[in-house]
Formats: sequence, structure tokens, C-alpha cells
Amino acid sequence: MCRHLGWLGDAVSVASLVADPANGLLVQSYSPRRQKHGLMNADGWGVGFYDGATPRRWRSAAPLWGDASFASVAPALRSTCVVAAVRSASVGMPIEPSASAPFSDGQWLLSHNGLVDRSVLPLSPRAESTNDSALLAALIFDRGLDALGDTIVEVAAADPNARLNILAGNGSRLVATTWGDTLSMLRRHDGIVLASEPYDDDPQWQEIPDRHLVRVHGSDVELIPLKGSA
Ligand code: GLN
Repeated sequence: MCRHLGWLGDAVSVASLVADPANGLLVQSYSPRRQKHGLMNADGWGVGFYDGATPRRWRSAAPLWGDASFASVAPALRSTCVVAAVRSASVGMPIEPSASAPFSDGQWLLSHNGLVDRSVLPLSPRAESTNDSALLAALIFDRGLDALGDTIVEVAAADPNARLNILAGNGSRLVATTWGDTLSMLRRHDGIVLASEPYDDDPQWQEIPDRHLVRVHGSDVELIPLKGSA
């Protein structure tokens, strides 16, 4: 399992979201507070952000805590939309930069926090790696992000043990699902954060219930129960 974070709002630095908070993704890479599967997230990381309409990514297969270049450059990377993740690879999955989220179709940036049986996912020439998350990202891109909720319900029906927390952004929107793992939201005066776990102890963090679709557009947030909810 991994931890991920999305930002939509005013332009802020990647460091202010990932590295500076007391329990941000940087600390979550070695000491997550709410992770139910896996102890730490040492198998890579990725930061994606929009440069105008263009998604740009920086991914690695090494632990985020050891990356001095990231620490140096992150304060200078500013964006209105960010999708970032730290990775704990599932057993048998490759550890390489292209297996780290965020995945992209050139328009969206997408992270998967979870585990799914690869045999229920179609092989796709657009998958960036052979791990479950890369195959799932390719399927979601093929179906389109407007169908994200339907795609998740369909994959969950094929693999009832799957955990399918998705977080994606396209520069002007964030969409996310909760299916088997945690997700929290923070409404700030300058934007909205979605994160696997709160990056600090601000009492304004809200937990998103399981089996929901979250859509963020500007400061509007829609929370939609997914079919198959208990
Ligand atoms: N199943 C994922 C992988 O190995 C585990 C990491 C995550 O939660 N995305 O790629």
C-alpha cells in the first residue's frame, strides 16, 4: 500500500505539501500514522504537477527520505494542481520508477493506493509498468475518468479482495475513490487537499467514508456513494 496526496487550489510549492508538514508524505514514507497494510513506503515515490496544462512528473524507485535533490528542488516547484505518492510495493511487483505513481495518459495524473489481482485486469500496451497499479491506471484511462466509479465497482466485483483507493487530477479537477483504505480531506482558504492520511493535526481534516467517489472542482466537493456500498 502506498500513501498519496492531491492538491487543487492556488499555486503552492510541492515542498509545502509534501516535505514541510509535520506528517506529510516525506514523513509518511518512513512513519505513516494510519497505514493498515505495510509498515513504511520505501519502494519509490512520485510527484506530478501541472505546468499550465502540461502534466510533469518526477518519479523514483528509491526512498523519498534519502533524496537530497528532491529536498533541494521541491520548494521551487509550484503548481495549482499536484498529485504525489510514496510507494510500498506489493509482493511480487517490480520496483522501478515507472511503477511509481503518478501514472499519466498525458492529460491526467493518477495514483492507486491498494492491491488488485492482476489476472482480473486487461493487459494494455499503454500500461507504464507491470505492477497492478500501472495496469489499473491503464484501464481507468481507457474507460475515461468520468467512468471512474463504474470502473472501480466493476474491478471490485471481479476481485472482491481488491483495495482500490484512486486519486487523480487533470489540472482543474481532482477525483478520488475510497475502497478499502483511508482518505481525508482538508479545505484550506487557498485550496483543497485530499490525502491518504492527514499531514498534520489540524482539526479541520475530514475523513471520507469508505466506498465513495469524491469530485473536487474549484472549491466544490461532491461525495457520491459507490454502488455495492454496505
Ligand atoms: N499494489 C501496489 C504496487 O505494488 C502497492 C502500492 C500501492 O498501494 N499503490 O504497486
